Amino acid sequence: MKILSVLVEYSLFNTPFTYVCDDQIDVFVGCRVYVPFNHQNIVAYVIDVKHSNASFEQLCIQDNINYKYIYDVLDDKPILNDELLSLAKYMSYQYVTPLISCLQTILPPSYKPSKTSLKKITYKKIKKIFIKENANLANLTKTQAMWAKKIIEEKGILLKDLPVWIVSALKKQELIDILEIKVEDDYFKEYQKETKTITLNEEQNNAYEKIISSQKDVFLLQGVTGSGKTEVYIKLVEHYVNKNKTAIVLVPEISLTPMIIKRFKDKFENIAILHGSLSAKEKQRQYDRIKNQEVNVVIGARSAIFAPLKNIGIIILDEEQSTSYKQDKAPTYHAKDIAIKRAKSFNAKVVLGSATPSFESKARAMKGVYQIVYLRKRANNHELPTTHIINMREEVSDFSPLISYSLDYEINRRLNNKEKIILLHNRRGYSPYVSCRQCGYMFKCPNCELSLSYHKNGNKFKCHYCNYEVFFNHICPKCNNKEFLFMGSGTQKIEEIIENRYDKAKLLRMDNDTTSVKNGHLKILEKFKNEDYNILLGTQMVAKGLDFHDVTLVGVIDADITLAIADFRSAEMTFELLSQVAGRAGRGNKQGEVIIQTYHPDHYAIMMAAKHEYELFYQTEMMFRHKMNYPPFSYMSSITISSALNDQVCILSDKVFSMLKNEKKFELLGPAFPYVFKEDGKYKMRIIVKSKDLSLIVDKFNEANKTFVNEAKERKCSILYDINTYQML
Ligand code: ADP
Ligand code: ZN
Repeated sequence: MKILSVLVEYSLFNTPFTYVCDDQIDVFVGCRVYVPFNHQNIVAYVIDVKHSNASFEQLCIQDNINYKYIYDVLDDKPILNDELLSLAKYMSYQYVTPLISCLQTILPPSYKPSKTSLKKITYKKIKKIFIKENANLANLTKTQAMWAKKIIEEKGILLKDLPVWIVSALKKQELIDILEIKVEDDYFKEYQKETKTITLNEEQNNAYEKIISSQKDVFLLQGVTGSGKTEVYIKLVEHYVNKNKTAIVLVPEISLTPMIIKRFKDKFENIAILHGSLSAKEKQRQYDRIKNQEVNVVIGARSAIFAPLKNIGIIILDEEQSTSYKQDKAPTYHAKDIAIKRAKSFNAKVVLGSATPSFESKARAMKGVYQIVYLRKRANNHELPTTHIINMREEVSDFSPLISYSLDYEINRRLNNKEKIILLHNRRGYSPYVSCRQCGYMFKCPNCELSLSYHKNGNKFKCHYCNYEVFFNHICPKCNNKEFLFMGSGTQKIEEIIENRYDKAKLLRMDNDTTSVKNGHLKILEKFKNEDYNILLGTQMVAKGLDFHDVTLVGVIDADITLAIADFRSAEMTFELLSQVAGRAGRGNKQGEVIIQTYHPDHYAIMMAAKHEYELFYQTEMMFRHKMNYPPFSYMSSITISSALNDQVCILSDKVFSMLKNEKKFELLGPAFPYVFKEDGKYKMRIIVKSKDLSLIVDKFNEANKTFVNEAKERKCSILYDINTYQML
């Protein structure tokens, strides 16, 4: 008999279950097996295989257990290589998360050992039909000719999109080629491949040389917006690919960064692009390509850091300060930490790129833990844009409290000159708070207790936290009154104001509501680039990565939105957002201009962003962080306890708090209800821990987990351990 220890999703932390199988069955540690579990059939992960000479019956009697046989072995080899398996184990401890969840995080959906029943994925080959080059179309029927013309016009049509009889008719007459295509080619079909080669300027080349020749392993590439960081990344990746090594390039959000993706795609043949709109099947295909070493460059968002590449030479994180690199559910990893961990196993380099580095990275670079490399000039030698801060107390126009005279004047000027404008307003919807004029009733989300945002398009309320939606019938549920106050403003309201005010405006709005369709961002950006749209209005989506040469004005409608967030990082977030969006102006030959509207014109984050003074802002803000012992002067982590039962949440939080409070090296906050204290119908309480000793936090959290994992289950509570938390709300 073989005796197998396996992990399943139901395991209490890492407690294994035991199954058996016959000796002749090939099964190894690291394979998935199909097992019966509580009247279900589920996929489990083998962590140990032992042999016993006893028969099945003897075994059951001797251990007093009714052993069960496994049904099937799903893999003939372990599904993860040693490097990734030890990474999973490291993550399990570091992020206080069951190993099985870490495996699920690392693997693509179709390989996850999971409680949902098994779906075997087989690839369908995707075929495309092309008309042969010298095909004679004279003898076709009218319908056949119509289709043939369409195929030529669209430069090929997918087999599945053509009527079967047309395909067979054209095939019979030998007029078509049927070719297999790669699916990702389709994703980029809007683009023409460009083969322009850019020669690095002196500053870029110095940066490149420094990185490849240094003995250090982690680099902070701090380069102003437009300094050409992408070209440095490309050169670096090329260097390692030429040495037969591989590379991972991470971008904050793949749909927001089509331009950098395109640059890589133009340059590298064997590249895998892991983006959110891939189906599970396509994710598996890309995963297999990477695993089978058909690929040497992987580009993708956060989870691409787990790409099963071998022989990694370099890992690059673009916009390293982006919070999208942090996962806020378990395992609460940060892609930067995983990058550094993986790079160590390969002796590889890590490059963190940003115009406004996170304070964590900047502080480490200043201490010499990372090597800092600067790009101080824009690649085209143009100046950074001139920025004006507008005090809205003094300047508000007579046609709208949201647009100042200065902004109004500058918008008109650009529209008349046929130049383009980007407007940032970091709040979507029409109005973020609606209340009844008569009784004051506030519309709130039933799941989160947060105020619902009114969306004029569709006449709905939406919760921006949990996506709850409800139709608005314009009747107060409390007093039946029909008049309402629409307070605050979102992008939809700004759109309305702009369109009413400027005849020449042709506006595109880019926010979560307009980009939810497939390739939504890409489509809007392509329109803005190629058609006669002249204003791009949007949330922070318009601040990142865009490189339009004819944009000469950037307007920030309300710079105070991020400042008002209840988070010690709000000044940093504001500075970053303003710097990023300002960087979109003046990237071509004409000088760019930026207008920032605010009620806090003398706030240091706003003033310093306007002057592009990152270093000064860093020093100023670091004094505040130091005084408060906030990161990067301490590590801040949290434990969040949640349950539908509010009293159980309180009891368990107090117990966990008591356990931690004796630790002298900890500064504890809470337990307290966070700003979002109810989510998905569950109440939450949070304990925040600050300490200079990260490994002590990790040890103590694991100890807390051991102590309370059973009790939490009994009390119907769940506990989230968030190492280096970003979640203050
Ligand atoms: P960043 O990411 O640092 O903001 P980008 O990589 O987007 O900057 O580059 C800004 C612009 O400068 C792009 O249009 C890019 O094509 C151009 N560029 C970059 N490097 C060079 C170079 N060496 N010579 C000419 N143009 C360059
Ligand atoms: Zn909600």
